[in-house]
Amino acid sequence: MRIIDLESDSKVAYFSMEVGLDPSLPTYSGGLGILAGDTLRSGADLRVPMVCISLIHRKGYFHQELDREGNQSERPVSWSPEDKLEPVDVKAAIEIDGRKVAIKVWRYDIKGISGHIVPVYFLDTNLKENTEEDRTLTDHLYGGDNYYRLRQETLLGMGGVEVLRKLKHNANTHYHMNEGHSALLTLALLEDETKANGHNLINASTIDIETVRAKCIFTTHTPVPAGHDQFPMDMVEKVLGSERKAALQKLACCDKDVLNMTYLGLFFSRYINGVAMRHGEVSRGMFPNYPINAITNGVHAVTWTSEPFKKLFDNHIAGWRTDNLYLRYAMDIPLSEIKKAHTEAKTELFKEIRLHTGKRLDSSLLTLGIARRATPYKRLDLIFSDIDRLAAISRNVGPIQIIYAGKAHPQDEPGKLMIKRIHEAAAELGDSLKVVYLENYEMAIAKLLCAGVDIWVNTPMRPREASGTSGMKAALNGVPSLSVLDGWWVEGHVEGVTGWSIGDASTPPEEDFSNEVSSLYDKLEKVIIPMYYGGPYAFANVMRSSIAFNGSFFNTQRMVSQYLCNAYFPVGFSVDEELDFTR
Ligand SMILES: *Cc1c(COP(=O)(O)O)cnc(C)c1O
Repeated sequence: MRIIDLESDSKVAYFSMEVGLDPSLPTYSGGLGILAGDTLRSGADLRVPMVCISLIHRKGYFHQELDREGNQSERPVSWSPEDKLEPVDVKAAIEIDGRKVAIKVWRYDIKGISGHIVPVYFLDTNLKENTEEDRTLTDHLYGGDNYYRLRQETLLGMGGVEVLRKLKHNANTHYHMNEGHSALLTLALLEDETKANGHNLINASTIDIETVRAKCIFTTHTPVPAGHDQFPMDMVEKVLGSERKAALQKLACCDKDVLNMTYLGLFFSRYINGVAMRHGEVSRGMFPNYPINAITNGVHAVTWTSEPFKKLFDNHIAGWRTDNLYLRYAMDIPLSEIKKAHTEAKTELFKEIRLHTGKRLDSSLLTLGIARRATPYKRLDLIFSDIDRLAAISRNVGPIQIIYAGKAHPQDEPGKLMIKRIHEAAAELGDSLKVVYLENYEMAIAKLLCAGVDIWVNTPMRPREASGTSGMKAALNGVPSLSVLDGWWVEGHVEGVTGWSIGDASTPPEEDFSNEVSSLYDKLEKVIIPMYYGGPYAFANVMRSSIAFNGSFFNTQRMVSQYLCNAYFPVGFSVDEELDFTR
């Protein structure tokens, strides 16, 4: 692990549209925000000089309710930043739509294991001096239309840089963009640079551009071109003004008549990465003109390890909290204790389910967990492709039950239909195979679910899963994955040792539906169910290896260390060189 030079005053400003810090702060929607929170938690543990910029999202993402048929309804989450966060004594303003928008700032401190603090600054436009419309700009995470989104992204990127300037946090700073939403920060930095050098934005020099590039790091998360934020240029002109629009058009970040936030991030970054090795390859194919590296995601180990396993690790693996690599020695923990800790986690999950849904699940049954954003490519319902075969397997080989969770974006009709299909399948299966769909998937449920099921199932359409992280949370708790070979599982999968694959990686993806479906059933029928009921110690062995091999690696402590080595303060890259980064 790299030792950080605490004497140098260079720091990292991490920009993310969402950040998952605490179940009581609805400032995230899913994987991207949880990753941001886990990154910052590990940054604090590793004493990285780091701050985060995000938006306050006064109405959150949304609260999901499901009726009996699985129809999703949404309502805004109400919460008061005033009760949860510290106001920061700073005021900033930027221009949006040709008028001044004032910004106030809230702070949340993340305290690392040794006391080091990473502050998160949330931008908020709900101020009397703003127009009614501008006051709502920081209300809804991923809500509203494209125009709302562009104004939010302007606030995040350009407003964030302005806030850091006001906080005197802008010298020697490396700017890390967690996905393209914050890419306009590069434009704010370019404005600073051109102003300092007596140029204007339109005639920025190569040196101006290279100086900005020397400060920026970009992480892309989206292996599908349609998933990248794009805005028509006339909208860009309305929101940002004609000079900025012209400057963006001159730079290589516009595609015909749209601003592509990913191109903007790519263009201005000295270091670019995807979030798993496979995702790096896919991204290089999508953006062949950029040097794209890969750093595989992780999860914050202490946050996602359940109480029974924390106790178990504390008893057997000294130092695992401060150095997650020690989890490799989980191999020395007796299998009976692994089983016992898992039974406790499972009991806890089932107790909560009974409390919140009234449904009773049998904890002696093999239980599968399937939870992620409900959107078609994630194929949450793949396991119901052949309901008769599934029911026969459960009846003849060994009983299984399935616990689901996941929200569909309010505008994602196909995603909502998928939730309904799962409910229909559940009704059809009746008592022959119990299916429970938990409402309103969020951090607290994820923590219980990833630890309390017996197998974590993931069936996205390859190669769309950039990384995936919930299988990593499961691994820390000795829950093996059964997953298609995509994202992190390409690296974490050792067949029969850390879990099982669905399909294989060599057949062309996206055309492989029937092969994947039959593989999923075959693995359950011929390998997993017989092992679970017939060889509990063989199964516990897989559980233990998941912790030792995957828990020890797929954590954000390893991930942040890799960002330090490769992206933030790369070996052989000093601050002096950085100022001379003009090649
Ligand atoms: C971990 C987590 C996610 C992301 O899971 P993926 O496997 O990366 O899709 C989404 N939502 C919640 C609440 C989580 O805890």
